[in-house]
Amino acid sequence: MLSALSTNISSQGFANLTAAVFAFFSLLFIFRALSARLDSRLKGNRLNDPTLGADVWARREALNIVEIKELTPDIRSFTFQRQNGLPFSPFLGGQFISFQIGTPDTNKPVKARSYSISSSPNELSRISVAIKKIPNGVGSSWFHSLKVGDLVDAHPPAGHFVDNLPISTQRIYIAGGIGLTPFMSMVHEHQARATRESKMPTNVSLFYGARTQKDLAYHSELKTLTSNCSWLRYFTILSNADDATFDRGFLKLAYIKSKTTIAPDAHFFFCGPTVMTEALIAELIASGVSDKRIHLEKFVSPLELDSQQVPHREASIVFKGKSLKYSGQKTILEFLEEQVENISSACRVGVCGTCRCSGHGRVKMLTDAGLTTAEKQKGEWLACVSYPLEDLEITESS
Ligand SMILES: Cc1cc2nc3c(=O)[nH]c(=O)nc-3n(C[C@H](O)[C@H](O)[C@H](O)COP(=O)(O)OP(=O)(O)OC[C@H]3O[C@@H](n4cnc5c(N)ncnc54)[C@H](O)[C@@H]3O)c2cc1C
Repeated sequence: MLSALSTNISSQGFANLTAAVFAFFSLLFIFRALSARLDSRLKGNRLNDPTLGADVWARREALNIVEIKELTPDIRSFTFQRQNGLPFSPFLGGQFISFQIGTPDTNKPVKARSYSISSSPNELSRISVAIKKIPNGVGSSWFHSLKVGDLVDAHPPAGHFVDNLPISTQRIYIAGGIGLTPFMSMVHEHQARATRESKMPTNVSLFYGARTQKDLAYHSELKTLTSNCSWLRYFTILSNADDATFDRGFLKLAYIKSKTTIAPDAHFFFCGPTVMTEALIAELIASGVSDKRIHLEKFVSPLELDSQQVPHREASIVFKGKSLKYSGQKTILEFLEEQVENISSACRVGVCGTCRCSGHGRVKMLTDAGLTTAEKQKGEWLACVSYPLEDLEITESS
């Protein structure tokens, strides 16, 4: 009897356990599907969902400059609000906005420049970027000529340089010069996460290299943040230190190691001049760090992508049912725009993913930075940095 009862209890228990396991995995599946949807909406410029309401910043929109601040002699921050007074749509720390430079004539290709968001993803009523004026630079000089009240056309946030690691992972942020901007947004994002997930240990070190003390943007804000956040460590190094209280030199691995103990699973995020990032990344790889733990954002100007390396070619292109004759060295985006074909685009340097295409025929793509691994596996390419290698039949990705 006792044995029959215990068999009954254990089979009942087994059934309950099975039901609980089934319920757990069903919930996990639903949760993962929902977060994947949210993730795909947040990552990259994937907000062009026609089901989203007009209140969502889903396409090009004229934003109002509400504040301009002088951060250093050549860096200014620009803060924007939406004209309809509504909050911006959610974005991730590290993403950027592509702006249309000047007053665009809608029938002609427009100049676009991208700028990383420097404000907090937790503050959606205003968004800021910080722009360094480059001598003779088209976009940065134009921005520095603007004033409060001016309107600027902007595309929704995009980009894959985001920090979605578990909060307990050690991350080392390494910024050179204006490359600090995406980290400002990431640090603010991390602050909100650290408060939310307060039980978890967390460790962020921000290394910031600049020329002189007056070239340090957001320095006092970062010092205040550091004194309020036990998880944040902030180090500055100046190549032309004009004050003995600052470390003098360049951002090298030896300097980073002298300031922080690097965990075996630490992740490294880089944004800065190529000369700095390439040397440091080479040092890390040589010391055995896997490239999966290295994340890099490049501040490229469209002028730096050299189409001259692509030979002159002729090809037939079929797009939206029309047969077109391609001849020359223009990118596929420029060529289609010239044919007055409506094709979505934003950054024009292969980093935002807005002009993703696929189809029949091979292309040469100068950079695939704006594609996710899944998009690459699907054979997608970016029209703004691609050239035909043979006849093409092009489909725009949604
Ligand atoms: C994802 C991303 C994020 C970015 N975030 C920021 C940011 O937060 N802050 C920021 O200040 N910048 C940022 N940038 C860089 C920014 O987009 C611009 O590239 C930068 O402002 C220079 O643009 P410009 O129009 O002023 O200069 P450009 O006119 O584009 O000139 C750029 C440089 O190229 C040189 N040049 C001019 N003509 C040629 C030519 N024919 N061939 C080769 N070189 C030439 C110029 O002398 C200049 O040094 C970011 C870029 C990207 C892609």
